[in-house]
Amino acid sequence: MYIGGIEAGGTKMICAVADESMTVIDQTSIPTTSPAETLAAIFAFFAPYPMRAVGVGSFGPIGIDPHQSTYGHILATPKAGWQHMDVVGALKNQWPDTEIIWTTDVNAAAYGELRLGAAKGKSSCVYMTVGTGIGAGVVRDGELFQGIGHPEIGHTFVKRHPDDTYPGTCPYHHDCLEGLAAGPSLEGRTGIKGQDLREDHPIWDLQAYYIGQALVNITLTLAPEKIILGGGVMNQPHLLAKIQEAFVQQMAGYMETPPVNEYITTWALPNQSGITGCLLLAQEKVAQK
Ligand code: ADP
Ligand code: ZN
Repeated sequence: MYIGGIEAGGTKMICAVADESMTVIDQTSIPTTSPAETLAAIFAFFAPYPMRAVGVGSFGPIGIDPHQSTYGHILATPKAGWQHMDVVGALKNQWPDTEIIWTTDVNAAAYGELRLGAAKGKSSCVYMTVGTGIGAGVVRDGELFQGIGHPEIGHTFVKRHPDDTYPGTCPYHHDCLEGLAAGPSLEGRTGIKGQDLREDHPIWDLQAYYIGQALVNITLTLAPEKIILGGGVMNQPHLLAKIQEAFVQQMAGYMETPPVNEYITTWALPNQSGITGCLLLAQEKVAQK
């Protein structure tokens, strides 16, 4: 028997099969199109592998409370065709004897980084992605944190920089953190895609101002042992140091943290934290039995 992982993104679904010692034996990436077409391709990939458990880390927002009828569903996503899609229901239908572990993509990544990545050996961390959107997963006492739903740190509010007049890209809040600082805002402000912006462009100081501020808020609210940054925008090698500096400046010495270059780092499992976390969640479910 095997375990599976599905990192369900708005652009692609990364699927992996491992044996129960976590050795990956097959992996693929499936474009996210309509739910029917995408699920058919997922089921075809996993067909040769009878699985005891599958960990799913999904784009969101998702229904995560087992007591609610929306559990296992994707909720108000802008992704066409996926609104209110019952993903766990569809997987259970196909694999009635397989345990499904359902969480957010960023929760899975936080878990992967805690167990095998940048926060290895710690019992708490926050993982934040800065990509097409901004989202963060929280691990506390070694377990994923959730309450009435999953945290939506990407949509928290930040103090606007006095010189910033950009309206923001969030369809709900306009100038929340994601609206002011996710990848699309870089292009929205400058007309240049993030990956093509020069290192000496002044936009990076503004970017660091907002991300640094968000990390101050996370630290003051959750006091995690470590904060890990990933996502496309963090491919800018100079950005981490700017964020660390903005964090120190805005924290203003109020709360003691570990040295900032240990406390705030980039991911140790680039592009693999999510799928690794999905497999770990499945493996643990099997081990509990
Ligand atoms: P997603 O969030 O959709 O999973 P990514 O994490 O790859 O995907 O993020 C995509 C976003 O990151 C886009 O807005 C893109 O312009 C931006 N991006 C990708 N590479 C870079 C880079 N090297 N520097 C700055 N921004 C980048
Ligand atoms: Zn928002």
